[in-house]
Amino acid sequence: MTDTVRELDAVVVGAGFSGMYMLHRLRGLGMTAQVVEAASDVGGTWWWNRYPGARCDIESMDYSYSFDPDLEQEWEWSERYATQPEILAYANHVADRFDLRRDIAFETRVTRAEWQPGSERWLVDTDRGGRFSARFLIMGVGCLSAAKRPEIDGIDTFAGPEYHTGEWPHEGVDFTGRRVGVIGTGSSGIQSIPLIAEHAAHVTVFQRTPNYAQPARNAPLDPAFVADRKANYRDYREHAKRETHGGVVVPAPTQSALSVDDDELQAHLQDRWEWGQLFAVLGSYDDVMIDEEANARVAGFVHDRIREIVDDPEVAEKLVPKTYPFGTKRVCLDTGYYATFNRPDVTLVDLRETPIEEIVPEGVRTTDATYELDDLVFATGFDAMTGALLKPDIVGRDGTLLRDKWAAGPRTYLGLATAGFPDLFTITGPQSPSVMTNMMVSIEQHVDWIADCLAHMEAEGLTTIEAEAPAEDAWVDHVNQVAAFTLYPRGNSWYMGANVPGKPRVFMPYIGGVGPYRAVCDEVAAEGYRGFTLRSSAATAPA
Ligand code: FAD
Ligand code: NAP
Repeated sequence: MTDTVRELDAVVVGAGFSGMYMLHRLRGLGMTAQVVEAASDVGGTWWWNRYPGARCDIESMDYSYSFDPDLEQEWEWSERYATQPEILAYANHVADRFDLRRDIAFETRVTRAEWQPGSERWLVDTDRGGRFSARFLIMGVGCLSAAKRPEIDGIDTFAGPEYHTGEWPHEGVDFTGRRVGVIGTGSSGIQSIPLIAEHAAHVTVFQRTPNYAQPARNAPLDPAFVADRKANYRDYREHAKRETHGGVVVPAPTQSALSVDDDELQAHLQDRWEWGQLFAVLGSYDDVMIDEEANARVAGFVHDRIREIVDDPEVAEKLVPKTYPFGTKRVCLDTGYYATFNRPDVTLVDLRETPIEEIVPEGVRTTDATYELDDLVFATGFDAMTGALLKPDIVGRDGTLLRDKWAAGPRTYLGLATAGFPDLFTITGPQSPSVMTNMMVSIEQHVDWIADCLAHMEAEGLTTIEAEAPAEDAWVDHVNQVAAFTLYPRGNSWYMGANVPGKPRVFMPYIGGVGPYRAVCDEVAAEGYRGFTLRSSAATAPA
């Protein structure tokens, strides 16, 4: 550890879309800021997840920054759903355009941050020995950035190369002529399996829980559509931010799935199926996510589509999700996923029937057989929403570790702050809409709210801000009540922490929708930051 401590107004952790925009706003406020990023460049998710087939599942023209009208006019997306390299190129373009890199320390991981009661500053340690002292600590560490390997006996004994989709080698992987095993059939597996199968000699897919996927219907963007959207971008963005649930403009459902006869249901869902849009089937009726029977009708439609696509009825039945309501595990957008199982060189292993016993040097051994493999891909997801936040030791006002405070599940006020941890903000933190939405909308909303809050504090001569425990308790109760009103807690999903053994089972995102949530956050600010204690103290005067 060096003795030098750099004094700053703010330390931002993470240089994904959250950290990049946060830095831009902090500079605009005239504040000194340092971003600390474990990767060697910007992009976050899109720097790490380079597996074949990685692309967004929110349309590119929505999944992009809105904060600069010139930026949104000048950038040209080539496809409806851009690939990972294109999204990463966009992140690089933004970093260049706003000259962000000069304030980002790459290949540096924050390991500890401790609130100093005397100076009322955060002392931040990194794995490179650098130390920072900052008035504000802003975590832009990502909801899906702590890659998770599965707990399987013998995992380290596999003789061949192994890859996690969330930590994919930058030089790419050539699967030509190889026997590849893929464990995991969430969005990452569903995107990568069809492309791996195009090259590999044989792919064995190890499926623990089948997932719902609907066709992306990806295509090059129509120039007329792009011109029209760009002509109306400002209005469109405002609508998406303020009047929608998921941060993209889709017609709101007006009917119950139980109020229509089967012909009407089929026709309506078929129409939605054609859209190639994440929220199309989820939002087809107003009770899909709150009524079991309504959900089952919609799920039945998707089951039939899977049975139509997959030739072998036995394989099809294994791919049909039957153990949880539709949408309670994140729905995927696919390109040729189910049809991949019609290939003679792809095998589906249903781990519910024949669980994995162990990984052995030559492959994967289930209760039924040993599958010999050259390469092993873990598409096993992330310690979501809290994983990256709780990795470093974050020590609050009374010496409490955030990890301990959240031992029974995250507790936040608005997903933005947590009591006992002054001047700490979490961009898209748990109990905010975050992963239930177009993340770009949620990221920008949080960054803008934080920046406006800091500007207010500066203007009023205030130096510290802290969430109040009663406000936090009320927010946590509200988040839980809204979740309990839905079917979401019924899925063994990463939303619930269910994919991490020992993690508390609580529904972590806020399902109230981006429009209503923004209104609450704006109201809190307008009422003098209701539920926060703001103070001024001579102790935080510049060092
Ligand atoms: P991230 O992009 O995750 O960036 C966080 C950064 O923080 C990382 O680079 C990480 O290295 C760094 N970091 C973490 N901890 C530390 C530490 N202690 N010290 C230093 N650095 C640290 N969302 C959508 O809305 N639409 C999509 O289509 C979509 N597709 C996705 C596809 C994939 C494969 C994945 C995994 C996620 C996807 N998401 C999507 C969610 C996506 O994570 C967000 O959209 C968005 O990119 C998150 O940006 P972020 O900056 O908040 O976090
Ligand atoms: P995920 O959805 O959590 O899927 C992980 C998969 O691995 C699941 O099928 C899981 O099975 C399986 N698995 C985990 N541990 C296992 C074990 N021990 N044995 C066998 N199987 C195991 O992770 P992800 O696919 O990486 O996606 C995470 C999220 O990132 C997505 O939901 C989405 O929000 C985002 N994402 C988006 C895109 C996109 O399309 N733009 C692409 C990738 C990711 P169980 O279901 O049984 O736990």
